[in-house]
Amino acid sequence: MIPESEARAKVLHQVQALAARSLPLREALNCFATKDYLARIPLPGFDNSAMDGYAVVAKSCGPGKRLRVIGEQPAGVDRQLRVADGEAVRIFTGAPIPSGADAIVMQEDVKREAEEVTINEDVDPGAYIRRRGCDLSEGQRIVAAGERIRSVTVGLLASQGFADVEVGGEVRAAIVSTGDELVRPGKSLQPGQIYDSNSALVTALVQRSGAVLKPVEHCSDDPASLREAVARAAQNHAVIISGGVSVGEHDFVQSVLRDLGAKIDIWRVAIKPGKPFLFGRLGSTLVFGLPGNPVSAFVTFLRFVRPSLLKMMGASEAGLDLPKISAKLIVDLHNDGDRLHYVRGKFANGEFSPIGRQESHAVFGLSQSNAMLPVPVGAKFKKDSVVAVEVWD
Ligand code: AMP
Ligand code: MG
Repeated sequence: MIPESEARAKVLHQVQALAARSLPLREALNCFATKDYLARIPLPGFDNSAMDGYAVVAKSCGPGKRLRVIGEQPAGVDRQLRVADGEAVRIFTGAPIPSGADAIVMQEDVKREAEEVTINEDVDPGAYIRRRGCDLSEGQRIVAAGERIRSVTVGLLASQGFADVEVGGEVRAAIVSTGDELVRPGKSLQPGQIYDSNSALVTALVQRSGAVLKPVEHCSDDPASLREAVARAAQNHAVIISGGVSVGEHDFVQSVLRDLGAKIDIWRVAIKPGKPFLFGRLGSTLVFGLPGNPVSAFVTFLRFVRPSLLKMMGASEAGLDLPKISAKLIVDLHNDGDRLHYVRGKFANGEFSPIGRQESHAVFGLSQSNAMLPVPVGAKFKKDSVVAVEVWD
């Protein structure tokens, strides 16, 4: 049994980012940029009006002042108009500011009669003008290598005229679930059988991480069929096996992997739940053996598989972890055991409360949680203390 941090470092050490590819922006959501992107144009690109109204010289405005409207400046063209004292140009939102003008007066604040407007108030220079570069300067970094492309990132890149973006390679992951007792949801259960929930759970986790999922295979606890299924699955970048990694007579994952020539780097980690976790490599394919108990499968996926998939996809080091959020603990929590304990619970309104049975088979309790708190060996966390929880939903 090795410490969780050591196991995680060892796993990630074996993971390499795939080669970059170029994608149209609309397909790049949730991928990771493989290079820094710098602003090619300032934003806004030119001084423009924030309102529909009139472009004026501020000092020529005031109560009772009348201005002559000398032209119209719509958005989308630059009519190269010039405004002098006592004049105004009809202007629209996003239109370039005519030279000489130093403020915009909203159309709601003027009275228009034929070719004249009356402005019944003082106007501040700069009013309602969006200055060139006030949001973003040319050359400023807009996306960092390893950053996830979010919807707002897509919008930003488009505002800079980028039609494509360079992102990390597409990661293909296959799931093999093992167990004689398992029945596919939708079928009826015989005595002693249970539904295969890990296939669905791990599928959802793989999809959420942004990897491409290959068809899920289910095998009985039989070395020959497991061997075939794992060999097929190994044509992908990652194989995620559920169950069969413990020490029982029906746990064949290790022996089958060795048979296939896999190098097993890790087996058994000081983590609760999830002790039987296995990590190995079949050629360049990463192999993760998750314990069959669903909560163990879930926690070990988040701690080991998710960061590996993200690293392959090109995520930065900082992006491999779940977000950590400070929370007030609402109970005392002790860890008297010999493994780092990931306590599952609910994070809401700045507070963390453990939820459900903290046992590795308890899927209902897990389903009610959205965060986990690592409690190190020997730790005694006090009620009302502030702790850092890892949030997944
Ligand atoms: P194993 O790791 O194969 O020894 O399984 C440990 C526990 O997890 C047993 O109670 C199994 O019935 C259960 N289990 C294994 N695979 C699954 C699965 N795919 N879905 C739900 N429970 C499972
Ligand atoms: Mg089993």
